[in-house]
Parts: sequence; structure tokens; C-alpha cells
Amino acid sequence: MSLCKECYSKHNRITPLNGVRECLENHEQYICGSCGRCICIQKDEKRNLQRWNFPFQSLETAILYLRTADVTEEKSCGIYCLTNNNGRESYKIFSSDEALDLYLKKNKNKRCSDKVPVYRFSAYQTFTGTQIRKLTTTEVEQYLTEIS
Ligand SMILES: [Zn+2]
Ligand SMILES: [Zn+2]
Repeated sequence: MSLCKECYSKHNRITPLNGVRECLENHEQYICGSCGRCICIQKDEKRNLQRWNFPFQSLETAILYLRTADVTEEKSCGIYCLTNNNGRESYKIFSSDEALDLYLKKNKNKRCSDKVPVYRFSAYQTFTGTQIRKLTTTEVEQYLTEIS
């Protein structure tokens, strides 16, 4: 399997990661026009946050959601490695170094040592086959059989 040039994943049915059925049935998905992978892009209207706004435990997982950040911000976003006071590492996506700085100012318990993204997909591109919408019931069932 090769890396999907649109959504940066080798595995075209790897997401959603948690609460798969609930996510597919209830949340708006980024449907990759190239490989068909669904990525949760649902916005929490109250807090104006999407899945990619939250910290990830690993770089690999952050990369799985990077495409939804790029599409939302219409640019190549970066994944940064953050360390908390206990030395625990997490990965978080920001649209720019400035956005990272703003976050660090508000979250004094977090540090980012070199303030350089550990991962960024070079050039932002749009693709013609992309859809952002909720799946139909039939599509959910089909996708679920393809995951397993
Ligand atoms: Zn979801
Ligand atoms: Zn893809």
C-alpha cells in the first residue's frame, strides 16, 4: 500500500479510530476522493472545535487527522510535539507557528522545545472528488464491513 496523496495515510479504512459506528452515523466526515477513507470533521459548535484540534497520543494518529486540519484551514498545517510538566509528550496540530505560540501562552503547563513542526505535508492541494458530509445508512454499513 502506498501513501494516499490526498489524505496522507497508507490505510484507507483506518479511521474513525474510536466509537466507529457512532462517529460514522452521527458525525460529518471528510470522505477522501482518492482512497475513500472517512475522517471525522464534525465541529463541536459550542466550542468551535474539531477532532484535529485535540491533542493526540502519537504522531501516527495525528497524521491520520491532519488532512481535516489542512482542509479546514486551507493550508498545510503542522504537527507539533508538546511536553507537559510531567514530561509527558503529546502531538497537536496548529495552522501556524503563531497559533502554537498563542496556545502556549494560554497553557503554561505545556512546552514545545524547538517550536518546529515534527510533521507537515509539504504543499496544500485540493482534490476534485472530495466530499464533506454525513454518510447515508447504506454507506455506513458498507464502510463498516470494509474496516474489519
Ligand atoms: Zn466523529
Ligand atoms: Zn485518501
